[in-house]
Amino acid sequence: MVEATERDGMTWYQCEDCGLLFDNESDASQHEENCAGDDPSYHQ
Ligand SMILES: [Zn+2]
Repeated sequence: MVEATERDGMTWYQCEDCGLLFDNESDASQHEENCAGDDPSYHQ
């Protein structure tokens, strides 16, 4: 899941798998689809 967070007066979208922040929700979603995350076993 991409999580929206408020920071510095901006809304950021964070990949819950690796913690990477994006300023664009579609970029975050696209990243997350391809993100292996820290723990590969998390994805089944
Ligand atoms: Zn990620």
